[in-house]
Amino acid sequence: MPDALDDAPASDAREAVTRDAVFREPVSREAVSRETVALVIPLYHEEAMLPILLAEVERFRAAHPYVTEVVLVDDGSRDGTRALARHLTAGLTGYTLVGFSRNFGHQLAVTAGLAASTADAAVILDADLQDPLDVIPRMVAAWRGGADVAYGVRAAREGETAFKKATASAFYRVFRWMTDTEMPLDAGDFRLVSRRVADAYLRLGEQQPFVRGLVSWLGFRQVAIPYERAARAAGETKYPLRKMLRFALSGLTAFSDKPLRIASWLGFATAALSLAGLFWVLLVKLVWHDAIPGWSSLVFAAFFFGGVQLFFLGVLGLYVGRVFDEVRGRPRYVVEDVWRSEG
Ligand code: UDP
Ligand code: MG
Repeated sequence: MPDALDDAPASDAREAVTRDAVFREPVSREAVSRETVALVIPLYHEEAMLPILLAEVERFRAAHPYVTEVVLVDDGSRDGTRALARHLTAGLTGYTLVGFSRNFGHQLAVTAGLAASTADAAVILDADLQDPLDVIPRMVAAWRGGADVAYGVRAAREGETAFKKATASAFYRVFRWMTDTEMPLDAGDFRLVSRRVADAYLRLGEQQPFVRGLVSWLGFRQVAIPYERAARAAGETKYPLRKMLRFALSGLTAFSDKPLRIASWLGFATAALSLAGLFWVLLVKLVWHDAIPGWSSLVFAAFFFGGVQLFFLGVLGLYVGRVFDEVRGRPRYVVEDVWRSEG
């Protein structure tokens, strides 16, 4: 079968082949072992949460020894999170602490955590215990039963503002509508991924990864685990509205070009409309010899379409920005230090 790559210029083709070849090979050749599990937990200004979190994690590990590894990623906190995490885990077994050189964002912290983990599977969870640990055994059971991804689906959200719930719910629905990726509704990043899914995810290497979208995109056997989302146990949300918006936009532009298509259709419709308007104006002028009263309506129309154009120029800019991001090929994050607990 002729390959589309054959038509590409030589240097581009070489690039494309290596990228493609990675995924033409089976993602994992080794017999998949389903024994050990790592917890991957991003931390950003979580001083208040750490003692509670670690106590809970240790209690959980005592009952479930398959959790052999805990990877904490400090996403460039400026408070005492990193020092406290080292202090509290010093005598414990199986802890790895990855420290970023600055704040790179939750999604990249999760990515670094997956890269640092070595267990047969990894469970991604938030530091604030909003993703209850008691759900993990159900995820592990699904994985041992053959699933590659067991993702938590929020059946209820406690202790979150009506605004947060409404915006979150709207986001998942808009995302569903705009993207052709079958991403489950109301699923966050709380999920178990098998080693091969984690490895495949890491090979994608996107600059601004949208973890839950990319994991859905990867395929394999994915199952939903419904759970009740708890309230944050301590500290404050690290996702103010500004960050939430940026996150939503980055997720959408990574998975959908519908905004661009909407822009083209809107442009086409307004052009057709103004053409009709032009005919009308000519008709009034030439047939009825009447001047057009009310230039203000014209000014308004000019402003309106100016606004529409600026808006979609902005949309275009978002995509160009993403392309620029990828083309620069910078490392996605910078690790300042990696530290392992004694045990
Ligand atoms: N987080 C992070 N980097 C950031 C923001 C948040 O690593 O820039 C971590 C944070 O410490 C927590 C998780 O991401 O473990 C989710 O954040 P948070 O609970 O504040 O978000 P929310 O639940 O309010 O959406
Ligand atoms: Mg939270």
